[in-house]
Amino acid sequence: KLYNQIQDLKGNIRVYCRVRPFLPGQICSSSAVAGMEERTITIITPTKYGKDGTKSFTFNKCFGPTATQDEVFSDMQPLIRSVLDGFNVCIFAYGQTGSGKTYTMSGPKVLTEESLGVNYRALNDLFNLQAQRKGTINYDISKGLAVPDASIIPVTSTADVVELMNQGQKNRAVGSTAINDRSSRSHSCLTVHVQGRDLTSGTILRGCMHLVDLAGSERVDKSEVVGDRLKEAQYINKSLSALGDVIASLAQKNSHVPYRNSKLTQLLQDSLGGQAKTLMFVHISPEPDAVGETVSTLKFAERVA
Ligand code: ADP
Ligand code: MG
Repeated sequence: KLYNQIQDLKGNIRVYCRVRPFLPGQICSSSAVAGMEERTITIITPTKYGKDGTKSFTFNKCFGPTATQDEVFSDMQPLIRSVLDGFNVCIFAYGQTGSGKTYTMSGPKVLTEESLGVNYRALNDLFNLQAQRKGTINYDISKGLAVPDASIIPVTSTADVVELMNQGQKNRAVGSTAINDRSSRSHSCLTVHVQGRDLTSGTILRGCMHLVDLAGSERVDKSEVVGDRLKEAQYINKSLSALGDVIASLAQKNSHVPYRNSKLTQLLQDSLGGQAKTLMFVHISPEPDAVGETVSTLKFAERVA
């Protein structure tokens, strides 16, 4: 409750940044990240981006390569729990393919308890609270996103959800990009509807949470893809920039919010803006040769902050 009051003072949009570590076996001399403080990250850039070859960006929070999944989740936990107080919450993982979006949201390919991502931790936390509050939470299956071919399935445990998510992963668009990641070309969204009863007043509270692992934000070289692949890349770019436009206009408190410019923002319209809370979590890779994408990711983030 206190968190929500503080949050209301700060506004409903937060922007976080996470830098992944170098990967095991990667031969790399230096990182493109020159420095990092709690809220500011400094990037070493080719001179065209700044006079002295570095550029700093400030967000609500920055996580460095040694940040654990637990640290990341703990920071987001109050936001996630606000769904029980009837708030709508959207968490987006944004960044180029390979920057760690799926790691944050779900975890690595081989999961251990420590490496579990936000999805699992959030659901566990909500189910644990449900147990503590003696079944005050019900899963509201009567309303959902109007997504063609999507189904709404009642769940009673994290295990149920994990199984559904695995099924969902199998249904994601498969194909290969230059970077060859089968999940980089589609958005993946886990939506949880929660209905609770305030024990003192008896009021029914309904909240919903969307955890979104977005398609890779990298610009696609038109010479590399043709036909359907090119069309798909253009759709992805369009939906990501439309999402940026919506969040930026909410952050600026504009009276007109351009929800209708993409399917993604149309589908999430009820959970973006108004009382809803949004976390844009951008991810960057530490490699110097990724710096072009890194700067464009950070500029995107800066625009919506
Ligand atoms: P994306 O979903 O953005 O394409 P991934 O989450 O698949 O990127 O991350 C790319 C690789 O880096 C994976 O092998 C993943 O396990 C690893 N990785 C990403 N972030 C981290 C991290 N914070 N710590 C350790 N490994 C990470
Ligand atoms: Mg991924």
